[in-house]
Amino acid sequence: MVIRSKTLRLGILFSTLLVAIIIAVQLFWLQKEYFFEEKQFSTNVSKSIKGLYEDMHLVEGHSLNIEKLIETPTNDVYLARVDQMPDIDTLRLTLSKELVAFDVFTDCKVAIYDNASQAYATAKYIDLPDTYHPSSDNNDIPVFKKDYPYIALFFPHRSQYIVKQMFSWIVSSGILLLALIGFSGSIFYLYRQKFLYETQRDFVNNFTHEFKTPLSVIKIAADVLQQPFINEKPDKLSRYAGIITEQTAYLQQQVQRLLEIAFTDQEDLPLVKENFNADELIQQAIAHLQPLIEEKKVKIETSFRARDAIIHADRSHLFLVLINLIENAVKYSRQPIIEISTYQKDNDLCISVKDNGMGIAKEHQKKIFERFYRVTSGNLHPAKGFGLGLNFVKKIVDAHFGKIEVQSEPGKGSTFIIKIFKKYNYEPGKSSIGRR
Ligand code: ADP
Repeated sequence: MVIRSKTLRLGILFSTLLVAIIIAVQLFWLQKEYFFEEKQFSTNVSKSIKGLYEDMHLVEGHSLNIEKLIETPTNDVYLARVDQMPDIDTLRLTLSKELVAFDVFTDCKVAIYDNASQAYATAKYIDLPDTYHPSSDNNDIPVFKKDYPYIALFFPHRSQYIVKQMFSWIVSSGILLLALIGFSGSIFYLYRQKFLYETQRDFVNNFTHEFKTPLSVIKIAADVLQQPFINEKPDKLSRYAGIITEQTAYLQQQVQRLLEIAFTDQEDLPLVKENFNADELIQQAIAHLQPLIEEKKVKIETSFRARDAIIHADRSHLFLVLINLIENAVKYSRQPIIEISTYQKDNDLCISVKDNGMGIAKEHQKKIFERFYRVTSGNLHPAKGFGLGLNFVKKIVDAHFGKIEVQSEPGKGSTFIIKIFKKYNYEPGKSSIGRR
C-alpha cells in the first residue's frame, strides 16, 4: 500500500502545486488590472480637468502647460490651480459634463480654495450615475495649503468604483477559483476512493488467507478421520479430532471478532455502563491472554499508579479494547516485553500499553486507526490480521468520549495511551476521583 500510494501522493502534491500556481497567476493579473484601471481613472480625470480649463478659461496663457497646473496630493484628490476663483455653480455644471464625457461615473466633491483665508470658500457635490452613498456630501475634502487659489476635486469612492470596473475580471476569477476547488475536491475524492479500494482489497486477501489455511487443515484432518480402520488407531484419531477442534475454535474466534466489529459500526453504539475498577479489568485481560503470553514467552509488567481507577464505562467493550492492544503488542514484537500502566492526568484516567516491538513510522500513526489499514513493507506484512482491531478500539474509545493516541518510534516500540475523561465516565458519588 505504501508504494502504491506514493505515486498517488506525488500526483496530489503536483496538482496542489498546480492549483497554487494558477491562483498566484490569477492574483497577479487581478492586481495588474487594478493598477491599469487606476491609471485609466487618473488619465480620464486629468482629461476632464483639461476640458474644464478650456471651457471656463480658468488661467491666462498656460494653454500648453496645463499638466503642470494639476496636482494629485493623494490618489483621490486632484488640485487644479486657477488665476481667479470661478463661480461654483458654473464650475459644478461644466465639471459634471466633462466627467461624463470622459467616462468618469463616480461621485465627486468639488471645492474652491481661497488662498487669502487658507480654506475652502465653497464646495458642491456632484452626483454621478455610479454614486455609492449619496450621503457622502458630508465627506470633507482635506485642505492642502497653497498661496494661490485652486479647484479641488475629491473622489470619495474612487477605490470602490475601480473595483466595480473590474467586475467581469473578479467574476471570472471567482468562477475559476470555484472550478479549482471543485477540481481539488474531485482529486481528493478519487484519492480517498482509491485508498478505500486498496485497503478493502487487502482486507479480502487477508480474509481469504486467514480462513483458507484453517479450512484446508480441517479438510485434511477430516479426510484422515474418514480413513478405514481409523478406530483401530485411537492416538491418531484423537490427534486429528484435536486439530479439528483447535482450528474450529480459531475460526469461531475470528468470526466472533468480525461480528463484534460489525456491531461497532452502528452510528449510536449502545453502551452498557457500570462502575468497575480499570486495574482489575487489566488483570483480567492479562489472565485471559495467559496461553498466548506463555506461548510467546511474553514478559508482562503492570504499574497501577492511578489514585482511583474506578470508572463508569462499558466493561465488556473495554475488555476487548485491552485484549486488542495487548495482542497487538505481542504480535508486533519479537521478544515482547509489555508494560501496562494506569495513572491519573488532570483527574482523568489514562491506560497505557507499551511494547518493545517494531514500532510504527510517523506517517502511519494516524492511519492505523482507519478501517482495514495495515502497515506493510511492499506487499509483505509481519503478522496476520485484518486491519480492524485498532479501528474497533478507536470506535469504543470514541463512544466513551475518550481519546486514544500512539507514541512510537520504528525499531524501538510503541505506546498506546487511552484517556478516559472524568466528566463522561464517572458516576457522581460512586467514584472518589477528585474528592481527595
Ligand atoms: P491488524 O493487527 O489486524 O493488522 P490493527 O488495526 O490492530 O490490525 O492494527 C493496524 C496496523 O497497525 C497493524 O497492521 C500494524 O501494522 C500496526 N500496529 C498496531 N499495533 C502495533 C504495535 N503495537 N506495534 C507495531 N505496529 C502496530
